[in-house]
Amino acid sequence: MTKKQLTIGVLGFQGDIEENVAATRQAMEEMSVNGSVELVRYPEEMERVDGLILPGGESTVQSALAAIQRSLPVMKKRIADGMPVLGTCAGMIMLSKRAYDRVVGETRQKTIGNLDIVIERNAFGRQNDSFEADLKIDALGKSPFKGVFIRAPAVSEAGKDVEVIARHAGRIVAVRQKNIIGTAFHPELAGDARMHRQFLKMVLDYRRAK
Ligand code: GLN
Repeated sequence: MTKKQLTIGVLGFQGDIEENVAATRQAMEEMSVNGSVELVRYPEEMERVDGLILPGGESTVQSALAAIQRSLPVMKKRIADGMPVLGTCAGMIMLSKRAYDRVVGETRQKTIGNLDIVIERNAFGRQNDSFEADLKIDALGKSPFKGVFIRAPAVSEAGKDVEVIARHAGRIVAVRQKNIIGTAFHPELAGDARMHRQFLKMVLDYRRAK
């Protein structure tokens, strides 16, 4: 690693921001990575980070606030230029090229759009239908990963460059497309930093290549 320490940004508008900060710090500690985690909201802050996490929460609120701050185009460009990004739940919806809701249909919400998937919001039902499930994710090793699903989406179409990394109940619930990871569940609530470690590895590779 280069001398300058790594900076990870967590989109700081709404949702489980602190939980992602904590999971990223845990991953840094477990990997002995010298780095800091910052909340980012404005375009100039997004220019400074080496990797970005889009937390779970409410994607319509997050994208409306990001649009007001004119942050969507900056995120889109940096991700297109190779900056690693991890989007969890609402964060994966933010990354998708198109989102619709299982019940209300088209929501016409603005998304960042770099991830070549169509996503169905609330695919497993509403808040009361939230659940946990053990997931098999080869990239994270043999032991199952606890998937925490809260008003979770599912991927209904995935483009040819999109690798499916987890399924649940026959639905696609985690994907990777080059520098982008999207999960329908909340790895930041699993008490297990393996997904954040995987993301940090991508950030370290990106930094080395720069
Ligand atoms: N259903 C929420 C949305 O559409 C996502 C839920 C979550 O992030 N836990 O934005």
